[in-house]
Amino acid sequence: MYERKEKGTLYLVVPCYNEEEVIESSIEKLLDKLSRLVDQGKVTADSKIMFVNDGSKDNTLFLLHAAAKRENRISVLSFSTNFGHQSAILAGMLYSAKYASMVVTIDADLQQDIEALDQFIACYDRGCEIVYGVRNDRHSDSVFKKATASCYYRFLHWLGCSIITNHADYRLMSKKAIQILSQYQEVNLFLRGLVPTLGLPSDVVYFDVKKREAGTSKYTIKKMIHLATNGITSLSVRPLQIITIFGLLTCVFGVGMAIYCLIDWINGNTVPGYTTTLMVTLIMNGMTLLSLGIIGEYLGKLYMEAKKRPRYIVESFIWNGDENEQNGYSC
Ligand code: UDP
Ligand code: MG
Repeated sequence: MYERKEKGTLYLVVPCYNEEEVIESSIEKLLDKLSRLVDQGKVTADSKIMFVNDGSKDNTLFLLHAAAKRENRISVLSFSTNFGHQSAILAGMLYSAKYASMVVTIDADLQQDIEALDQFIACYDRGCEIVYGVRNDRHSDSVFKKATASCYYRFLHWLGCSIITNHADYRLMSKKAIQILSQYQEVNLFLRGLVPTLGLPSDVVYFDVKKREAGTSKYTIKKMIHLATNGITSLSVRPLQIITIFGLLTCVFGVGMAIYCLIDWINGNTVPGYTTTLMVTLIMNGMTLLSLGIIGEYLGKLYMEAKKRPRYIVESFIWNGDENEQNGYSC
């Protein structure tokens, strides 16, 4: 179907935030998988793992630096503070694309099945520029997470977004795809919604999700809500259009009610109407505040975009055991 590619150099990008409980076992498993891929001739011998320390407050960075010292195939990019998962994977991809021909992003807890990497690479070899990892089911999630995720994906589809259901950020992107993505300068990142808009040749690989082996989820409710609203506001302006339609319908209803009341008044019927007045006032005030909130959400995002603040600040970068290609902080 697509143009076949040569054997490529693979970089695995792993965002890490307070992952000291799980990181050593993940490093071991990833290195083992990388060795097997090289031995099987699926990727070149200079393939690597790039860990992105997203401002961890525990021992994660110390453990990563120690691993990078004993193992050349590990590189470590470290942020000055916590910029969030999306910024961490973006930075990892942009840095890796300098050396790699394909980059796969995967979580530090390895909940996503690393054995699916063979299929990712096979798709890349067939000519895909992007390969989306899609989870087979959500049995490892809580009932709350399952229900909210399902509603969220449905809502995004209803808004007309081209998001892939049950795809998080386990994804392969070619060098070319990352170079194109690097042209997108937005600060409010929602990569799983943004990447499909590139329109490049792509495919889907299904994988099983495991339970987290150690440590707890680093996606707090606050971070999840932030990501979810970012998803909606960065992919669609339809909520604003819905407000306009709602406003229009309310106006039509209002004019109808005014005519009705006028006729009633002319006919000399005076109705007490306390309940009606109260209900209309409460509902309308609620709707007005909700509408203002939605508009405010977009305005806030616009405000952040207008500031053009850096999406991350890199404090150090270790590559091939050396610190580093850069001196001091960089964006
Ligand atoms: N993560 C990150 N920065 C954050 C939060 C999370 O880099 O602010 C990383 C985290 O270390 C992990 C990945 O994002 O590699 C996914 O987080 P987690 O596994 O805790 O999320 P869950 O699987 O519970 O959705
Ligand atoms: Mg996880």
